[in-house]
Amino acid sequence: MRTLITGGAGFLGSHMCDRLIAEGHFVICMDNLITGNPDNIAHLFGNENFIFIKHDVTEYIYVEGSLDYILHFASPASPIDYLKLPIQTLKVGSLGTHKALGLAKAKSAGFLLASTSECYGDPLVHPQHEDYWGNVNPIGIRGVYDEAKRFAEAMTMAYHRYHGIDTKIVRIFNTYGPRMRLDDGRALPTFMCQALRGEEVTVFGDGLQTRSFCYVSDLVEGIYRLLLSNESLPVNLGNPDELTILDFAKKIIEITGTKKKIAFKTLPEDDPKVRQPDIKKAKSILQWEPEISLDEGLKLTLKYFKEKG
Ligand code: UDP
Repeated sequence: MRTLITGGAGFLGSHMCDRLIAEGHFVICMDNLITGNPDNIAHLFGNENFIFIKHDVTEYIYVEGSLDYILHFASPASPIDYLKLPIQTLKVGSLGTHKALGLAKAKSAGFLLASTSECYGDPLVHPQHEDYWGNVNPIGIRGVYDEAKRFAEAMTMAYHRYHGIDTKIVRIFNTYGPRMRLDDGRALPTFMCQALRGEEVTVFGDGLQTRSFCYVSDLVEGIYRLLLSNESLPVNLGNPDELTILDFAKKIIEITGTKKKIAFKTLPEDDPKVRQPDIKKAKSILQWEPEISLDEGLKLTLKYFKEKG
């Protein structure tokens, strides 16, 4: 198996590189490194089943030889990143997805799109199931990511229906674990770094907005199962264990043992008020559900942040 992973030097992309190499694939990792980090794949350099190509997938993608799968993971993915890189975010979701699908067609390769719970926007249906069309503000500050991913899904379905490409779409809910960037601005890295540095933990708004956090190894397992499945419609993957961001901050304060308290800051525009994946579909078609509890996952992640920090 020869597999291209776009965004392969990112947090999730690099874990997918590891998993597919472990499954015997030859992995071509492509990344322009604007949010990805070579440290995430440093351990793979020298592996005979791995090569890295530095390339921006919004430009024509050239890959020599055959390809069995393309996993399209390239995109800024944290709110701070896509606020800083709005045009690149829109381009990689639209032009980048088009290029990656064109390559899948040319190579007769299977295609998997890393989509997102952001497709549901600030959801009016809770928990979110795959049939819900979402509540997205297209011109808001998060719209650059949400709409790019919604376009990417539409483009993927069009290639599936019109060109008969074997495609999969995973809607990824909040995922955490080793290799998250310390400064990516998301709740978990921010809270952990603040707590470890002895700073106040910054909770946005009243902290009553909810999220559901999935440990990375569970997500990777679900994506691998989806890749091997026959399902072409979107599948949610995430951990349904939902909690408020305030409780999440308190948990991190507790496990890090910091003496500092919480500082409340302004809630960013269009911040979803609730989020919890409905994973009935993944359970039934992939026989998948998360195994790592939040407490267990946070312990593993804290170890990584302590080493990196
Ligand atoms: N958040 C927070 N403090 C921070 C960073 C994030 O309270 O320093 C909140 C953010 O407003 C959101 C939640 O934590 O309600 C999760 O944010 P994150 O950036 O991790 O990802 P999102 O789920 O919003 O894409």
